[in-house]
Amino acid sequence: MTNPLYDALVAPLAERRDDVLIDAVGAGMSGAELYGRAMRLAAALAGAGLVPGDRLAVQIEKSPQALALYLGAVAAGVVFLPLNTAYTPEEVDYFVGNSRAAMLVGDPAKAEALHAVAARHGARFQTMDGAGAGSLPDLAAEAGDFTPAARNPDDLAAILYTSGTTGRSKGAMLSQSNLLSNAEVLVREWRFTKDDVLLHALPIFHTHGLFVASNVVLRSGGRMIFLPGFKLDQVIELLPRATTMMGVPTFYTRLLNDPRFDRDLVGHMRLFTSGSAPLLAETHRQFEDRTGHRILERYGMTETNMNTSNPYDGERRAGTVGFPLPGVELKITDPATGATLPDGEPGMIEVRGPNVFLGYWEMPEKTREELREDGFFLTGDIGVIDPDGYVSIVGRQKDLIITGGFNVYPKEIELILDEQPGVLESAVVGVPHPDFGEGVVAVLVAAPDSAPDLVRIRTALEQSLARFKQPKHIAVLPELPRNTMGKVQKNLLRKELESVFALQR
Ligand code: AMP
Repeated sequence: MTNPLYDALVAPLAERRDDVLIDAVGAGMSGAELYGRAMRLAAALAGAGLVPGDRLAVQIEKSPQALALYLGAVAAGVVFLPLNTAYTPEEVDYFVGNSRAAMLVGDPAKAEALHAVAARHGARFQTMDGAGAGSLPDLAAEAGDFTPAARNPDDLAAILYTSGTTGRSKGAMLSQSNLLSNAEVLVREWRFTKDDVLLHALPIFHTHGLFVASNVVLRSGGRMIFLPGFKLDQVIELLPRATTMMGVPTFYTRLLNDPRFDRDLVGHMRLFTSGSAPLLAETHRQFEDRTGHRILERYGMTETNMNTSNPYDGERRAGTVGFPLPGVELKITDPATGATLPDGEPGMIEVRGPNVFLGYWEMPEKTREELREDGFFLTGDIGVIDPDGYVSIVGRQKDLIITGGFNVYPKEIELILDEQPGVLESAVVGVPHPDFGEGVVAVLVAAPDSAPDLVRIRTALEQSLARFKQPKHIAVLPELPRNTMGKVQKNLLRKELESVFALQR
């Protein structure tokens, strides 16, 4: 009997007496303890009637016990379906209904509303809080031994719903081998070993914190400083005990804003990685100036796990996401025809490999639209490959602006805006325009204690950009709306600015 993900990530914990998880005050949980919890939770799931292939929806705070629940689901062969803790019960309702989950585990603080959600869809309901207590752990405490369920490499291990900024979100079906192959590649490429201590401040309802961070550490036999979230003071205090950190770009900009974050604090560190949103080349340079470290930027998504990475040895090139990982094929195609484009031309990034998901849960037509029969997945990201083979992301296809029939890639304009004096960062969006269909709008955030000079900025744009690409409207906002993973939410900006051209008439 086999269960490849259990064999690789869970079983080895049973023998480990060392602390696999370390909390903010230095208290540890041994591998054996984590293993015991995972197996008791697996027994509790099975005892409640869940069978392999059933979906387990969870909306709980990050904690060692929450990680044990993920590992318990792997052992029980149950499909893990983690949900953003910010979702309202109304939003959770969609995921439970769409996935036909057999059980929903939620925070006791929201028990009443979530219980009603579960009941509406015929799912069982259990609780677990941020300290790892609740009705499910209570059941687990009484559970007996558990024999892991048999699973094949192609069996589902998890369904992760896409963040769904356009339309309803879709459940990406990830198999055991999707997760395992990616963890193994990343362990090798990023040189993770049992001596590593990862500072883990990412959420575990998302692919970055759950699969990239946790699976890689579990696979390598290393340890994690497992924090409920990113708190600047805490991270600065704990960095001296870590060897590696995985972050979203906002982690690094926040650290750079603090004078305590310097060369001495992180001189001993082995690796910083960044992903989930673009890391500004400027942040990359500032980070190196301050610390002597070059952040290793990589690129992935819910549906594909990780696709590309800058090299561990060799040049980590700012503003790029590096090369396709071993086993991953990547090509740039014409979004209209699907034909492969020559290097240097921007187009749709398509990827194929053992990392690419099986399709969208019960949405065959969406799957057909995005996953070609030959296995290539249309990522929706527009990218370009430079003469040395480095991939850069120019933007999302859905962010492409079509103004007067011309295509405008926001990134091209954002890169210029970001360089202007007095500008901290920028975002460019298209909003309805009575003559052009869409009009280009730039949103600027001022650098601390400065005000961008809009006349000067317009002159700079006129010098470097064709007229149709120049923003027809520039707005200055206090900050850009971002989600938990640090991604700029352009849909919110478009909404906020949707009538600027209508009003100008
Ligand atoms: P998610 O499915 O939430 O992980 O979001 C995946 C999307 O995040 C990708 O399709 C990209 O648009 C974006 N993304 C991930 N990593 C990077 C990166 N290093 N640079 C730019 N965008 C990224």
